[in-house]
Amino acid sequence: MDKVLEHLGDMKLELGPVSPGRGNWQYTTDTNGILWLVLDRDGTGTNTISQDVIRELSDLIAQAEANPPKALVIRSAKPGGFAAGADIGSFDAMTDNGAADLLKQGHAVMDRIAALPFPTICVVHGAALGAGFELALACDIRIAVEGASFGFPEVKLGLHPGLGGTFRLPALIDATEALTLMLTGKTAHTAEAKSLGIADVVVQERHVAAAVLAAATGKIKEREGGGVKAGVLLLKPARSLAAGQMRREAAKHALKEHYPAPYALIDMWETHGDDPEAMQKAEIASFAALLKTETSKNLRRAFFLRQSLKDTEKGEDGIAHVHVVGAGAMGGSIAAWAALKGKTVTLGDIATDALGKAVAQAESICKQAHLSAIQTRDTLDRMMPDPRGYGIARADLVIEAAPENAELKEQIYADLGKRMKSGAILATNTSSLQLKQLVGSVKHPGKFAGLHFFNPVEKMELVEVVAHEATDAKVIRRLASFCGAIGKLPVQVTDYPGFLVNRALTPYLMEAMVLMDEGIDKEVIDSAAIRFGMPMGPVALADQIGLDIALHTAESLKGTLDKPMAEISEALRKKVEKGETGKKAGQGFYDWWEGKPRLDTDEPGPDDMTDRLILPILDACVVCLREGVARNADDVDAAMIFATGFAPFRGGPMHYARTRGAKDICARLDAFAKTYGPRFEPDEGWSTFE
Ligand code: NAD
Repeated sequence: MDKVLEHLGDMKLELGPVSPGRGNWQYTTDTNGILWLVLDRDGTGTNTISQDVIRELSDLIAQAEANPPKALVIRSAKPGGFAAGADIGSFDAMTDNGAADLLKQGHAVMDRIAALPFPTICVVHGAALGAGFELALACDIRIAVEGASFGFPEVKLGLHPGLGGTFRLPALIDATEALTLMLTGKTAHTAEAKSLGIADVVVQERHVAAAVLAAATGKIKEREGGGVKAGVLLLKPARSLAAGQMRREAAKHALKEHYPAPYALIDMWETHGDDPEAMQKAEIASFAALLKTETSKNLRRAFFLRQSLKDTEKGEDGIAHVHVVGAGAMGGSIAAWAALKGKTVTLGDIATDALGKAVAQAESICKQAHLSAIQTRDTLDRMMPDPRGYGIARADLVIEAAPENAELKEQIYADLGKRMKSGAILATNTSSLQLKQLVGSVKHPGKFAGLHFFNPVEKMELVEVVAHEATDAKVIRRLASFCGAIGKLPVQVTDYPGFLVNRALTPYLMEAMVLMDEGIDKEVIDSAAIRFGMPMGPVALADQIGLDIALHTAESLKGTLDKPMAEISEALRKKVEKGETGKKAGQGFYDWWEGKPRLDTDEPGPDDMTDRLILPILDACVVCLREGVARNADDVDAAMIFATGFAPFRGGPMHYARTRGAKDICARLDAFAKTYGPRFEPDEGWSTFE
């Protein structure tokens, strides 16, 4: 309660008594006769729109219907934002207990808010996502506090909006823009939300009270959806034309059989886009049906896997200052990212031009992260180029991101050992060396670990936190907490060749090269992987990773692996020799000058090709489980989804293996081993896989 008063107090309102509240809501009427409903979900830092929240809101709306205030305001008491969407944890129970009926109850409350005869105003700070956004849409006017954002991420859970978003947003703004937001799951940040017409005004927090009063007294007018384009889109032929384009666009990103939700939404809008009532009925039925699909169940699984990695270590990391050694592709972005997330960072390199490039890159990372000019300035202030390494003595964590050369790394560690302060952690970003090869030159082996970021750092959420035999458990916990503090997902792994992700991914990339050597077109190979559900094919992925890096990883794994690997392709070696190292060089197996290569083939390739690519990933994951590289199968699934994009709608490689059955997979691998060689022999770990 105090928190709510404090929050409303910021607005310098003269308040009436704040009610004892209804569970998740507090309410009060101010001296202007405006009723404030303030959402403050119990026991959590983030509001979600649960069934209880809706039920209590229904009671509050009933009071307002019986006793009309001058205006009604809905806002959040949580400093972090408005509301993150529906309570995803309740979706399974909803599926079993008549989702459509529950949805109808939610819709009824939203409809009653929309029908209130006095102005209804939603004040949004931070994110209004999913059902939170839908609640905002049920109000007449939306006041966005600087930094607010709006979005419908449901599509990432195999769903579309289910509380009225599918018809309220297209009625408010350009319908094609509305559909685009729903189909992509992208967030409209403040400026875009204003220009699209989602936010009626944008104000700073200290001006919220004045803006609310202006809205309550008719000085901010409710937006009229409409215009010529809206009129045209009320006609079925125009909608069909637009829907056709949307389907083609959707097909570029996701196949209907893998991700039915976008297609269901487009169909619904094409059929009912001129009739909100029919759209509402269709939305409820379609959402309830999508909840039951395997795709949505698996995507929800992926959501909770992410959550569980986030929850791994929430403790204090005790890391205020990070020093990064090496300002190249990885070190520069790691430094920028850590600074963006509030750490003090010093960045060292023997090449001054690398430091200059890293600063320029940091600026571009800030831009991509939608930082304001002030936030960007603060980030850059926190990231200090440090060619002489003065920061080493002050750093709580030193991350080494020097070239992949064991001797060089050892020299660097010997020097760091003399300069690092006592208690500081040393982490290497190596991707293909084992820590046991490097630990000899480290002064405090217990405080040495791996922190394996993926490229590009600003986009890839996963970080492997690698423990070698002597790493202190406390150091691993602190590093996991550090990952959490900088918004990354830590997965704890052991010091195994390739750790988890590269161990599992390399046989897949190498098999793709073997298939190319057998004469199969790269586009046919990549299309097969995409049809399975990978975000891109293995050949394009190798180009993106860098063919030199892929080759180096394969070579170093080949010598250390527990089982035979495919011969490394001559074509790959030749590409690297010629300097055609993939995307970064503009040319790899694909030509990248024109951007991402387009795959234009329907040719299916050999029947067994997809399994030849995918099953080695599953087998390697089982090896990692048997060897205790990852803690459990869920961690393996999470790592592979968040580091490689492994078909999230299949729930991860181990979930896919479980669904398909270990027996079937082993039989297939046995058959491949006979035809193609011992690299396919199923691992003994399959016998205990469950
Ligand atoms: P890079 O070649 O782009 O950058 C390395 C930087 O280190 C260069 O700027 C170089 O000038 C600098 N350097 C060389 N010797 C140094 C020294 N003695 N002291 C300080 N700086 C020195 O390499 P990268 O791709 O950023 O890789 C760095 C590490 O990250 C490697 O261990 C690599 O395996 C790992 N990694 C790379 C990727 C990737 O995709 N590039 C992904 C994950 C991990």
